[in-house]
Amino acid sequence: MSTLTSSIAVEQVKKSRLAETDFNNLEFGKYIADHMLVADFKDGKWHEPVIVPFGDMLMSPAMLSLHYGQSVFEGMKAFYMNDGNINIFRPQKHSSRFNKSLDRMCMPTVSEEMFIHSLQALIELDKKWIPKSEGSSLYIRPFMFAYEARLGVKVADHFKFIIINSPVAAYQSKPYRLKVEDHFVRTAEGGTGFAKCAGNYGGAFYPTQIAREEGFDQILWTDHKEHKYIDEVGMMNVMFVINGKLVTPQLNSAILDGVTRDSILTLATDMGMPVEERRVSVAEIEEGFRSGQITEAFGAGTAAVVAPIAVINIHGKDYSIQPASADSFQTRVKKKLHDIRMGDATDIHNWNFIIKG
Ligand SMILES: *Cc1c(COP(=O)(O)O)cnc(C)c1O
Repeated sequence: MSTLTSSIAVEQVKKSRLAETDFNNLEFGKYIADHMLVADFKDGKWHEPVIVPFGDMLMSPAMLSLHYGQSVFEGMKAFYMNDGNINIFRPQKHSSRFNKSLDRMCMPTVSEEMFIHSLQALIELDKKWIPKSEGSSLYIRPFMFAYEARLGVKVADHFKFIIINSPVAAYQSKPYRLKVEDHFVRTAEGGTGFAKCAGNYGGAFYPTQIAREEGFDQILWTDHKEHKYIDEVGMMNVMFVINGKLVTPQLNSAILDGVTRDSILTLATDMGMPVEERRVSVAEIEEGFRSGQITEAFGAGTAAVVAPIAVINIHGKDYSIQPASADSFQTRVKKKLHDIRMGDATDIHNWNFIIKG
């Protein structure tokens, strides 16, 4: 169990908004917990973070992030374990990914110590905001953006690092209908796809909206050059079970290095499931559906952990996938991960960051 070694200055809310929060009806991102953590990078260094009531902030219309897009985020979860303590899942891995995104965007990195200390202090203070029902959690959103006000195109020299938290219900969604994109691109190799930077998502809205109008939920993005190879879903990584092997596109600069992806690949190996991280062509997927060699397809991401896929549309043709059975790989790996997170299975990879409940 981790205890705080030093304290962060706190300005408490005058009145908590807990009473106005309907914990039986948590829409994703609707409610934000009472407090937020804010730290400034200015004069070439980080200043002490402070915890203040969540609320609106003053910002200049000339703030650089609004114009040139220096804005990066993370998404992770904290939840109650069976023994009543609180688990923040894999904060070290989120910290290192945050820093990779920040480097790519010419933004100052945050030390792992500062990142985790900030998370811990804020979550301890707002632990009443962690929902307790099965599968629910506190969604944690650390982010950073350029705060300097100036219109010239330049790397900013004033940034804010902020953490806000939102209680969320167990993820529920019907299995996804995905469309393999063969016109638009989310990002290109050499671009910013591997970074969780704001612009990647804004740029994906338009093609996704078109896919929605065509009856799909999300896009399965492909390589920018030829649309021949599968990248990912754009909020989730994608995995297939082909001929009894777990197959997922190998990471490249257009693919986000998902923490869930990494956890599932690690557990698959523990479970004796053969794993292949390699290029996955659209043609192979099409052929795999025709021959019946693909038995599972699912998305992997923090929000859903494992999100079943029902349909993949390739060049205008729908390929359907049977619902996951109780002994499917995705069901078993989801349970395994859940057991580790809840404290029912040994956390051999040291993924749980546990604080007192
Ligand atoms: C966040 C994200 C994922 C999933 O990553 P997790 O760490 O598992 O939540 C996948 N793809 C993109 C583009 C993402 O932004």
